[in-house]
Amino acid sequence: MMGIMRRMKIWSFGREFFGAPMPSCRQVAEYLDDYTDGELPRGRKIMFKIHLMLCPDCRRYLASYRRTREMLGKVTPLPMPPATAERLEALLVRHFQS
Ligand SMILES: [Zn+2]
Repeated sequence: MMGIMRRMKIWSFGREFFGAPMPSCRQVAEYLDDYTDGELPRGRKIMFKIHLMLCPDCRRYLASYRRTREMLGKVTPLPMPPATAERLEALLVRHFQS
């Protein structure tokens, strides 16, 4: 019984730290961009790092994400065809006017 209580205490400590809750694996995936760009607030970043330390799945995911980003960084973006740009602009205008 004591063992369970102690583990629960450690768990709840691990869940909230520096005022930020422990992110779930899904949230880690969502914030990966901001994390890689160094745009996460301090508390959240620390929780992120703790999650990565404890979760091999997310570490693997982060590694492959970084490789993908590196590869994309080497690709020169092609200009958007004018017809596509026009359609996109019309779509955005409609979206933000409604
Ligand atoms: Zn995870």
